Amino acid sequence: MAQKVLAEVKTGVTALRDRTGATPTLAVVLVGDFPASRIYIATKKKMAAEVGIASRDFLYPGGLSQPDLLALLRRLNADPAVHGILLQLPLPQECDEDEAIEAIAPLKDVDGFHPTNLGHLLAGTPTVIPCTPAGVMEILDHYGVELKGAEAVVVGRSRIVGKPLAQLLLARHATVTMCHTRTRDLAAHTRRAEVLCVAAGRPQVITGEMVREGAVVVDVGINRLESGKLVGDVEFDLVSKCARAITPVPGGVGPMTVAMLMKNTLQAARRHLGAV
Ligand code: NDP
Repeated sequence: MAQKVLAEVKTGVTALRDRTGATPTLAVVLVGDFPASRIYIATKKKMAAEVGIASRDFLYPGGLSQPDLLALLRRLNADPAVHGILLQLPLPQECDEDEAIEAIAPLKDVDGFHPTNLGHLLAGTPTVIPCTPAGVMEILDHYGVELKGAEAVVVGRSRIVGKPLAQLLLARHATVTMCHTRTRDLAAHTRRAEVLCVAAGRPQVITGEMVREGAVVVDVGINRLESGKLVGDVEFDLVSKCARAITPVPGGVGPMTVAMLMKNTLQAARRHLGAV
């Protein structure tokens, strides 16, 4: 599925270049020394190159002061040759993440984290949709999962996954329940779910007995165990026995997230070049 999205983006990039002479360009900003972030960025840049999107690096492994980071983001906002800005999170503790996200021009915010873009999502007039929830919706649509009237449960309420995903499901007329660490009886909610989306960041927090027979399960979590093994938030072996469908980790939502980032970057370039 991710390959299909990437192939469509590649075709779109070529068409845009033929029409305008411009190459969609993504500025990649990394502050601090986070090994996982370095891997994520390498994957995103590789995908960008594959679909013909240019990337420009602004890497500060030794850190960057908040004023300097804001100045960099403003420079990138004003640069007409940059169509999208990817600010890799997390930022080091001394930086203010919210302020940095808000400093990105909403139309260059290819991650869709800016309050303006999240607000549009809430208002029902989506502009840039955060990549992971957008990827989850593509998966559900691709497999023809009926959402209208469905009991959907989202575990996790982060700004980048849980909240926007719940909003997208709601917009498609699912009946949405959101769970979090203060939810009294998590299993009572998850057992009702026809569509269960889990983004808790806790290895195997969803066990076999917590899932309804025939449910569709989307596992967003990525957790590295001490053994080095990557696992999701769902106990795959047991849940896959009762679920109608389940996404694997790795190789499920992760690749879709990167593919949606490429789609958002192409879309941002189209808007900037007046080619929507
Ligand atoms: P956050 O840590 O920001 O949020 C986790 C959410 O899960 C919180 O709302 C928290 O509740 C809730 N939660 C944690 N533990 C439990 C529990 N035991 N029961 C119920 N709710 C719980 O994480 P993110 O949303 O950023 O990421 C979630 C997971 O998805 C991570 O594993 C992350 O690596 C992965 N991820 C994967 C992506 C991909 O491309 N596949 C992209 C982005 C993230 P509370 O609000 O009460 O603290």
